[in-house]
Amino acid sequence: MASKRTHVLIIGPQGSGKGTQAALVAPRLGLVHVATGDLFRALMASEGALAREVRSYYERGALVPDDLTVRVLLSRLEELDRCDPDYRGVLLDGFPRNRAQAEALDAVLRERGDELVAAIHLVVPRDVLIERLSGRLVCQQCGATYHRTFNPPRQPGICDRCGGPVIQRSDDTPEAIARRLDIYEEQTAPLLDYYRQRGLLIDIVGDRPIDEVSRAILAALAPRLGA
Ligand SMILES: [Zn+2]
Repeated sequence: MASKRTHVLIIGPQGSGKGTQAALVAPRLGLVHVATGDLFRALMASEGALAREVRSYYERGALVPDDLTVRVLLSRLEELDRCDPDYRGVLLDGFPRNRAQAEALDAVLRERGDELVAAIHLVVPRDVLIERLSGRLVCQQCGATYHRTFNPPRQPGICDRCGGPVIQRSDDTPEAIARRLDIYEEQTAPLLDYYRQRGLLIDIVGDRPIDEVSRAILAALAPRLGA
């Protein structure tokens, strides 16, 4: 029987650097970075009953229900158990997004005998998020992202990685971004309360250089992971 897993969540709005930080800190903590967006993309490219079920929602343009998302996640955890019996746990990025999902996740982890030891919350001021997101550029061909000011492609309008056209998406206007952030905050506030009440929430200031943020996350998690 494998030892008990200890998992960590990372929560933050679009533009907070959440995915970047998750990818940087997970290997340094002995955790596997599990981004639910990547999980679904990989699943969509595969066969099998779970993939077919998810595809049926995508094809109708419907939202994937929470219980199905939880089953997708559970299948990934079971796969990790098989592939790497000694892994410590996952750094979960992109799930849960609301309180109902958090409760569903708890039920699954309880059943597995796993423990959630912390929820990292990346805190970035709203005006900084709007500045970051409104300068965002995306390659239409491969999806690579750039920033007009902080990380432009080497040749303007041309993707470094694939040579495809790099554009600003029409839904990245400051007004549209502000609306998305409003919706995010509304959904996330009860989620943050849920973890705060249980002593799991750790606020990390995300508005500073990437390596400083990483160090702060590692320092905050070390005692909880017994590192
Ligand atoms: Zn590209």
